Amino acid sequence: MSKNKEGMLIVLSGPSGSGKGTIIKSLLEQRKDTVLSISMTTRDPRFGEQEGVHYFFRTREEFEQTIANDGFLEYAEYNGNYYGTPIAPIQRWLYEGKNVILEIEVQGAEKVMDKREDLVSIFLAVPSMEELEHRLRGRGTETDEVIERRLAAAQQELTRVFRYQYVVLNDEVEQAVARINTIIDAENLRYSRMENTVLEVK
Ligand code: 5GP
Repeated sequence: MSKNKEGMLIVLSGPSGSGKGTIIKSLLEQRKDTVLSISMTTRDPRFGEQEGVHYFFRTREEFEQTIANDGFLEYAEYNGNYYGTPIAPIQRWLYEGKNVILEIEVQGAEKVMDKREDLVSIFLAVPSMEELEHRLRGRGTETDEVIERRLAAAQQELTRVFRYQYVVLNDEVEQAVARINTIIDAENLRYSRMENTVLEVK
């Protein structure tokens, strides 16, 4: 058996307010083999958000410099701000055998799908648009205008669900986490991911 099985790259998208953050937090507590990629963004930090934990907060100039240096696996503009996935840490984690989760929106996810055939793609769905609006308002961190824009973005994102391999309904957090765990475990058993291990046994 070879020692190094590469980690899996997993993209998790879903409308703002679909509960991605909560689900990922719980998933990471349960899976020591999995890490979350920290994105770079030009948006302002929300209350309680920390540099290097939630995002790397940068100016547009700094972000554009990273684009010029080929430092992103993908990047996109969303709601007037740039968001991008720094590539270097991802390469390192995958090499070390860690699964890496990208929590990114649909345009960026589609770019990664086009680049990486082995990507595992999951769309996190909410039970209804009413429920999504309720969750966004309940969060209390954004103005009405931002909420309206996020709801419109969610409608737009839903038109791209068909590009994803898996759809997980977030009706209840622990259920959704269990479904994602099932996906990761099954993906790990794919022949294409076993090739370098099982086939080496003579
Ligand atoms: P928020 O401002 O609510 O933190 O994020 C807005 C949207 O940007 C979310 O859908 C989030 O998943 C997405 N996002 C966060 N980081 C990245 C990234 O690196 N690339 C892309 N394309 N989207 C991202």
